[in-house]
Amino acid sequence: MYSYIVDHIPKGNKRLGTKLQPESITIHNTGNPTSTARNERGWLTNPYNTSSTSFHIAIDEKEVVECIPLDEIAHHSGNKQGNLTSIGVEICESGNQEKVWDNAIKLIAKLLFDRGWGLDKVTTHKKWNGKNCPRLILPRWNKFMGKVEKELSKLYSIKNQGVSEWAIEAWEWGKQKGVIDGTRPKDAATREEMTTMLYRMKEEDK
Ligand SMILES: [Zn+2]
Repeated sequence: MYSYIVDHIPKGNKRLGTKLQPESITIHNTGNPTSTARNERGWLTNPYNTSSTSFHIAIDEKEVVECIPLDEIAHHSGNKQGNLTSIGVEICESGNQEKVWDNAIKLIAKLLFDRGWGLDKVTTHKKWNGKNCPRLILPRWNKFMGKVEKELSKLYSIKNQGVSEWAIEAWEWGKQKGVIDGTRPKDAATREEMTTMLYRMKEEDK
């Protein structure tokens, strides 16, 4: 799982501050085999970078960095309509690509879930202007989207079990760690149940 860092760039040519009502999520690869999400964020405020090109989110094997608020326009698609309607997600080419993919799949599913969107809302840079981007994912696009679909249905099934949306991430974590058994999300815990959960966590940390 990734940590989500909000580190917005100041307003300027890359972030005009124009409001965005997103209608889709556009997937990119950075085109740079060595840069991390923080490197991508750093490049946006590097004085040598005078281009207006920008994006909302960069993601690598460890972190998600949100560089522009998701309700403001970024210049990532090489296409006016794309920029005016879509959230741009840059997937890093550095690090363990399996982990990067795993994080990207989780992030995209979460972005869809939070907006009540389906898979049809995910698109590619290529679709906007023909660029071969996301270059590492395009050759395996269906496989990638199949995994997003699986993750998205997992989120919906947890919600259907009665878990509040704000608690889904923690609930999943608890199940994975074996701290909870994944049933009765709304029940109160007794003192013995509470202690057992703490004990299981201690055992897990050994
Ligand atoms: Zn791109």
